[in-house]
Amino acid sequence: MSNVIVVGGGAAGLVAAWRAASQGHAVTLLEANGRLGVKLRISGGGKCNITHEGPPKALLAAFSKDQARFLRPSLHAFDNGAVLDLLRREGVETYVRDNGRVFPQDRPGSAAAVVSAFETLVRRAGVDVRTGARVVALEGEAPRLLALRVGEARIAADAFILATGGASYPETGTRGEALGWLKGLGLPVRPWFPALAPIPLLRPRPAWEGVALRGGELRLSAGPGSRRLESFAGDILFTRAGISGPAALELSQAAERARRQGAAWLGYASIPDTPENVDAALVAESRSNPRLLAATWLQRHLPERLVDPLLQEAGVDRALMLKDLSKAARRALVDLATALPLGAPQPVSLARGEVAAGGVDLSAVDPRTMAVRGWDNLRICGELLDLDGPVGGYNLQAAFSTGHAAGTI
Ligand SMILES: Cc1cc2nc3c(=O)[nH]c(=O)nc-3n(C[C@H](O)[C@H](O)[C@H](O)COP(=O)(O)OP(=O)(O)OC[C@H]3O[C@@H](n4cnc5c(N)ncnc54)[C@H](O)[C@@H]3O)c2cc1C
Repeated sequence: MSNVIVVGGGAAGLVAAWRAASQGHAVTLLEANGRLGVKLRISGGGKCNITHEGPPKALLAAFSKDQARFLRPSLHAFDNGAVLDLLRREGVETYVRDNGRVFPQDRPGSAAAVVSAFETLVRRAGVDVRTGARVVALEGEAPRLLALRVGEARIAADAFILATGGASYPETGTRGEALGWLKGLGLPVRPWFPALAPIPLLRPRPAWEGVALRGGELRLSAGPGSRRLESFAGDILFTRAGISGPAALELSQAAERARRQGAAWLGYASIPDTPENVDAALVAESRSNPRLLAATWLQRHLPERLVDPLLQEAGVDRALMLKDLSKAARRALVDLATALPLGAPQPVSLARGEVAAGGVDLSAVDPRTMAVRGWDNLRICGELLDLDGPVGGYNLQAAFSTGHAAGTI
């Protein structure tokens, strides 16, 4: 048996502490906040999208190649089924939504029920939980970490597991400072970078706040000739400052990278087809349905609230019938449906992301144990690692799996 300190009482730290204590170690869990699992409590809008259904292979496919390779052993050892079994034994029943996302049974505060279950597991396993304990420094040099500091107090241990999370939503306790300490100890790190966040726009449309564009594709282009860099099929939602919604969150990291490298543009294709095909379909429609109004055609593809202002901006009379459309007017309609211009993205906020990209470089960590290479008693798990999956339960699953591996001492 050894003395193990886990820093961070979030998704990864809770699992790591429970696992290490279950194996007979004397575990102390240090959490900066006054209570455990603060980010978990607000996850999934307070409902907590615990994980995603499917075999490990499908879950891994949601991550970048390098991240998937890193996650493979820990995910196989503690997969979505294992997480859900554990929670079910603590009374948290779950269900799968049509899109594969797994949630606790719907009831108010279901995310809090997930935190309670983990808290029960940790306490029952005998973990010494200390809340309000913010670690401010680490002491030691390779190959051994000796102690850490909480205020003036120096706490020594045989082994240390760092699970301090990312750097988004700093009000939940995750300020990202551990990355600086680890860099100071010589570990390779990638700076924090915004991800899964709303995208502010240079020319936002506050009048459209709350309007959603559905069923199409958000597209990111940059450089001369507006080269398409990336696109994501899904909805967007206009906000006061720009856009949010699933497709905006998923493209936010790429948009910020493109923006930092020069000019970038966003557009939304309500009909994700080529302009040529849509134009041909419109020509065919103007023959079969000549008296259909231009505005009515556009309303099939865009929300009613946007149709009149967009037609006005494009200089197309809303009362024009398809049979009377000039070539230029037809082209304008096709453009609005296939490439609604949203303009240039503005700096994406690290703080407002559902995850932070960046973290400890995966090459520094053994993917089976989360042990830091070249160190005898230091392990790292969760979002502090350079892991960032898409929305859908993947990030919590990554935290649970890596936490389990780190706690398997
Ligand atoms: C609004 C929002 C919604 C989300 N919804 C989902 C979702 O539904 N599904 C999903 O899969 N993912 C979701 N995520 C992402 C997911 O919550 C995180 O990826 C996950 O919590 C990371 O787990 P972690 O244990 O690494 O970090 P965290 O859960 O953030 O835990 C880290 C803990 O470490 C503590 N800490 C930090 N520094 C110190 C220190 N110096 N000393 C002591 N303690 C410290 C923090 O207070 C924190 O409690 C969401 C994120 C946000 C912000």
